Amino acid sequence: MSTTSRPVTMEKITNLCKRRGFVFQSSEIYGGLASCWDYGPLGVELKRNITEAWWRDNIVAREDMVGLDSAILMHPKVWEASGHVEGFTDPLVDCKSCKQRFRADQLSGPKCPECGGELTEARQFNLMFRTFMGPVEDTASTIYLRPETAQGIFVNFQNVLNSSRMKIPFGIGQIGKSFRNEITPGNFLFRTREFEQMEIEFFVKPGDDAEWHERWKAERFAWYQRYGIRREHLRLREHGSDELAHYAKGCADVEYEFPFGWSELEGIANRGDFDLRRHSETSGKDLSYFDEETRERYLPYVIEPSAGVGRPLLAFLVDAYDEDVADGEERIVLRLDPRLAPIKAAVFPLLRKAGQPEKALVIRDVLKQHFLVTYDQAGSIGRRYRRQDEIGTPFGITVDHQTMQDDTVTVRDRDTMEQVRMPVERLATELRARLAPPAPPPHDVDGAARAAVE
Ligand code: ATP
Repeated sequence: MSTTSRPVTMEKITNLCKRRGFVFQSSEIYGGLASCWDYGPLGVELKRNITEAWWRDNIVAREDMVGLDSAILMHPKVWEASGHVEGFTDPLVDCKSCKQRFRADQLSGPKCPECGGELTEARQFNLMFRTFMGPVEDTASTIYLRPETAQGIFVNFQNVLNSSRMKIPFGIGQIGKSFRNEITPGNFLFRTREFEQMEIEFFVKPGDDAEWHERWKAERFAWYQRYGIRREHLRLREHGSDELAHYAKGCADVEYEFPFGWSELEGIANRGDFDLRRHSETSGKDLSYFDEETRERYLPYVIEPSAGVGRPLLAFLVDAYDEDVADGEERIVLRLDPRLAPIKAAVFPLLRKAGQPEKALVIRDVLKQHFLVTYDQAGSIGRRYRRQDEIGTPFGITVDHQTMQDDTVTVRDRDTMEQVRMPVERLATELRARLAPPAPPPHDVDGAARAAVE
């Protein structure tokens, strides 16, 4: 399916996000802060469900992974060693007439794209946010907000080795905030100055890196499909040698076809031994690994699957967005994977009398022990279904006349709109079964996951 035949546009997504409380502009009552966004009551649930799915599949379900949560503020030497102080720059040009700034590598011609004015020469602009630690503002106290979570993993490599029983090949994953003073942020959540990342550094023996790179590309490409993104809206794009970052031996991006075009969700890089080598040299601490079986000592190579959270969240929303006709009325429906949906079920009394609201509230309270469940008695039952369809709630539970006689309710499926009647006492088990994660992802990605890429 091409972009043009999909009902979704960025305008529809941003409107829905604001109207229903997924995403608000930061500091909106003061006119907003450019390219910073706040996650509202539904957005924060969706975001948590995405990061939990990532954590469950990449850390909990795997034998060869552990987690970490390192501080955002790090020793300034980290960023010298990593090459960020010197090399984490974008070429910046200013328009001499309208004063707007652009990334030189994103312009198609020599003139200002806004007013046609003349542009300045490009100069390198460092994307790291700088601040000061302690009460003195001088160069000795300059520190940076981290532009990636990865370095927190590298500097803890020996700590993790010494305190756990991990043996190479193994990986460390973490989820956390990163900051980049992007020159041209935009496209809603796609490029922001503060964002969250889900990163893995997977340490392997040199020589095994190419094979592990292939495995991680396949695994990560399959992951997005496992949570509902359609195969035809995803592609894996290998970087040309001219695009590679200063540390990378090779890199492939998982890209999604957004309404504004194909763009990166996640980069999967082979970083070689660049980071551990630089940190060994700069800190004077030996970060090599001793392989007890082969009696060899070496600096491991690193495969890095590095995803944002905001970009996948936007992709999940865009891919789930649909418009159709239900019971003769047009509806917007978010066909989110039930595991990602912010609210799992809504409970409705058909009538606002005859004991039905009281019964529905009891059901809500029981189910709330297990899942995020909501209650709604306002308006016709059709309108109530529509409200839930629009935010992706997979199940609608209705208490009606028959419920009061035999303790059964109807459960409506958001996508098929089919309704089945079931005893109230089976609800929690039934919903849990429908929301259960699938069998753990195949570690042997040579099979299923690899087939998904091909
Ligand atoms: P781009 O080329 O789009 O600037 P990048 O290649 O610099 O991205 P990486 O350094 O590979 O990005 O970061 C890994 C992931 O972190 C990206 O795939 C993306 O999901 C996320 N990410 C990076 N920068 C931003 C940003 N400014 N806003 C939101 N997410 C981001």
